[in-house]
Amino acid sequence: MSKYIFVTGGVVSSLGKGVSAASLGALLQSRGYTVHARKFDPYLNIDPGTMSPLQHGEVYVTNDGFETDLDLGYYERYLGIKLSRNDSVSGGRIYWDVLNAERRGDYLGNTVQMIPHVTNKIKEYIGAPTGTDFVICEIGGTVGDIEGKIFLESIRQFANDVGRRNVLFSHLTLAPYLEQSGELKTKPTQMSVRNLLENGIQADVLFVRSPRMLTDDERAKIGMFCNLPAKNVITSMNVDNIYKIPLVYDAQHVFDIMAEHFGLPNAAGDMSKIQKIEHHLNADLPTCTIGMVGKYFDIADAYKSLNEALFHAGIQNNVHVKIKKINAETVSPEDFTDVDGILVPGGFGTRGIEGKIMAARYARENNIPYMGICLGMQVAVIEFMRDVVGDENANSTEFAKNCTPVIDIMSDCDKEDMGGTLRLGAYPCNIKPGTLAEKIYGATNISERHRHRYEVNIKYKDALEKAGMIISGISPDGKLPEMIEIPSHKFFVAGQFHPEFQSSPFSGHPMFNAFIAAAKKK
Ligand code: GLN
Repeated sequence: MSKYIFVTGGVVSSLGKGVSAASLGALLQSRGYTVHARKFDPYLNIDPGTMSPLQHGEVYVTNDGFETDLDLGYYERYLGIKLSRNDSVSGGRIYWDVLNAERRGDYLGNTVQMIPHVTNKIKEYIGAPTGTDFVICEIGGTVGDIEGKIFLESIRQFANDVGRRNVLFSHLTLAPYLEQSGELKTKPTQMSVRNLLENGIQADVLFVRSPRMLTDDERAKIGMFCNLPAKNVITSMNVDNIYKIPLVYDAQHVFDIMAEHFGLPNAAGDMSKIQKIEHHLNADLPTCTIGMVGKYFDIADAYKSLNEALFHAGIQNNVHVKIKKINAETVSPEDFTDVDGILVPGGFGTRGIEGKIMAARYARENNIPYMGICLGMQVAVIEFMRDVVGDENANSTEFAKNCTPVIDIMSDCDKEDMGGTLRLGAYPCNIKPGTLAEKIYGATNISERHRHRYEVNIKYKDALEKAGMIISGISPDGKLPEMIEIPSHKFFVAGQFHPEFQSSPFSGHPMFNAFIAAAKKK
């Protein structure tokens, strides 16, 4: 049977529960244990697919085509695991399941209630077998949120069901620093732990976000108010990079706390993988500037996986990657004078499209390394069709109705297969031998994750290829172009998929590694 770690948070939101949860997983893995991770979001959206990246950060996509919270991205990257639709569960989805079951008559005429019907449904998702030693479940939101109550009730029951020693409650809080008096205030943490206790949950370990290390006196004081030994009160220091967190935890013997709670033998961990990242962060290395032409820059997390993938590729290439954010709606050629590579990421809607097309043109004409992701491939194809093939009317039917539809909804795609409207999740792609794509991947069969509605129209393959843009990756049925490149260019590569979702901090991703290598050369 797996053991469970529940991660909750209090005082304020956005303290980094996802990173905290992933870091606990990293500590367990470094001692040889296997780990699975799950996220429970109490909000009422059925899934995050329709949520604005400007409100909620990026929408992450799993292999099985589920649109999830970006914390699933942390888990996959940090822990090198693959998650699926049942690992990202919202309140809306729970109620949807319960109400559908009610309509089907599954409850045999019983009154349907929050307890036990909703709590049982939540516990079903929590306890679904994973075959791993540990399952880490993050509960989204903050203790005290109305929607969250039923989730706290469920994890309380769950601990009682499987045995208290098989469950560790980890709670993340904040200790605000008052500049005037030079004091770190512990009261909000006490209140948050008390709030948890009102729901029948005693925190076993506390992670207190703070700008400096808590003193022993402060830890003892928090422990005294919160029913904990002082050693279980951990400082979650503000750090400049999330990959330092597992090291911060390890230095404070967090594994020993877990070991004691679960009755595991003490063990020193092998943290070398994460230490390598820390070493890179501190190393004096040349900087490579990537101009990223997008439109969701108002919130830091909107391009989370993409920022990560560029960072990972920097590690592989021994350079620091600097991302220059260029607004697609106001972009001009001068923005590119100091960049070593141009990246056009995914996006939806007409806003900023002509700017992205201009960026692709600038990269092509000036022989600057170009990487296009999803929409970034579509604009590169539109640009090439307009300027090189010579059809000025070329566009995507997403943006213009009476155009040469070089990007279009491919009507013979199986719509059922596309999750209603979007093509979502991992699809196989065949790579054309002898292309740069083959060199990049070192393979001719790959699998990458998708999230888009439109496709490069295969009807224009010959026109594009005759003019010098090669379709280097294609779906196995030969209908959907998946990758393009321009062989006469230094590095001009794009994919219809989102490679950033599969980038690992420990090995990067072939496409990003090659892009940064090309930019570094420049
Ligand atoms: N808007 C484009 C489409 O739907 C691209 C989407 C994306 O970049 N993820 O096909």
